Amino acid sequence: MTTEDKEQLNRQMDVIVQRAANSIGYPFATDFNYSELYPLLGYSLNNIGDPFIESTYKVSSRALEREVLAFFAELFRAPKDNWWGYATNGGSEGNLYGLYVARELYSRAIVYYSTSSHYSVPKSIHLLGMQSIIIRTQANGEMDYEDLEASIKSNRQRPVIVVANVGTTMTEAKDNVATIRQLLKDTAINSYYIHCDAALAGNYLPLLEEDPTFDFAHGADSIACSGHKFIGSPMPCGVVIVRKNYKDRIGQPVPYIGSLDSTITGSRNGHGPLFLWYAIKKYGREGLVQRAVESVSLASYTQSRLQAAGIPAWRNRNAITLVFPEPALSIRAKWQLATEAGQSHLICMPGVSKETIDHFVDEISIVPSKKDAEESGEYMLSY
Ligand SMILES: *Cc1c(COP(=O)(O)O)cnc(C)c1O
Repeated sequence: MTTEDKEQLNRQMDVIVQRAANSIGYPFATDFNYSELYPLLGYSLNNIGDPFIESTYKVSSRALEREVLAFFAELFRAPKDNWWGYATNGGSEGNLYGLYVARELYSRAIVYYSTSSHYSVPKSIHLLGMQSIIIRTQANGEMDYEDLEASIKSNRQRPVIVVANVGTTMTEAKDNVATIRQLLKDTAINSYYIHCDAALAGNYLPLLEEDPTFDFAHGADSIACSGHKFIGSPMPCGVVIVRKNYKDRIGQPVPYIGSLDSTITGSRNGHGPLFLWYAIKKYGREGLVQRAVESVSLASYTQSRLQAAGIPAWRNRNAITLVFPEPALSIRAKWQLATEAGQSHLICMPGVSKETIDHFVDEISIVPSKKDAEESGEYMLSY
């Protein structure tokens, strides 16, 4: 490595440290400390193949991965003897996997998903060559169930696959799986499958609510969740859990790895589930509940502070995402705020402090909003 390379690396490190301090627009927890695990970064952990079938490659975290999966299966109230899952690279892979299982069950189905679904949903549908219909959303970002019902009724000869969002990307709205299932029963649809994209809220909603209406107990057939969001991890990771009898149709034995090829990718990150296992054990369920409660209360604090500053911020029930009119570009860039159709959001993930929120509110209060700046002509001058 040359001196310039070293300088470049140091600059990159500084930039990362500095930018991490202002990151409130993306749902990634930052309060983790995995230093006890650093020695294991010296090993090529690879959980290739099915987590429940040992592979000939044994440098893995498979045993811990199975415990992580069991934790999520219980959190999602999966049927005790009828679930399966694996540690994914994140929520997107879980969505692709859930839709893959659904397609193997119902090759002629139509997939229904909402305009607020994450972009990995239409992408997966495209990759799998499935047919789909996009459903309107209500003002809060939740699926419009009347539109869903009407669309299903006009295609009633086809099996139905519904993607429910549990925490939409922009407003953290939750589609109600219980309502969707009731609607399917009322319309006398027999062949259906519900995949739940619970990438963000799937991890903490069951810690906050006694009867979260998105899980297996309410009729979900598969649930995807990210691990690096609420729990937090230095690398993207996640889990997908599915009813086992549905999954059994997928997976070819591969003699040379000694396992079953039942996952989307071949090699699978062994460090991701290792970090998740460590966090689950270290916090314990109580510690995780505590983090969820703190996030919600910080969100409530943020909402009051923004409103007091004259910014009409709002959030969905039990949401840690604040939605407000898009501020000036300088604010959006510095605080890394995701913005869509004139609305920006910030997310009170574990690791975001009250001080950071105060700092943000102070800054946003003195910079004119994008709309005000445009109207007064300042906007053009500043950029
Ligand atoms: C983050 C997110 C995803 C994608 O998950 P990754 O872990 O980034 O792949 C999908 N859906 C929703 C609702 C999300 O919030």
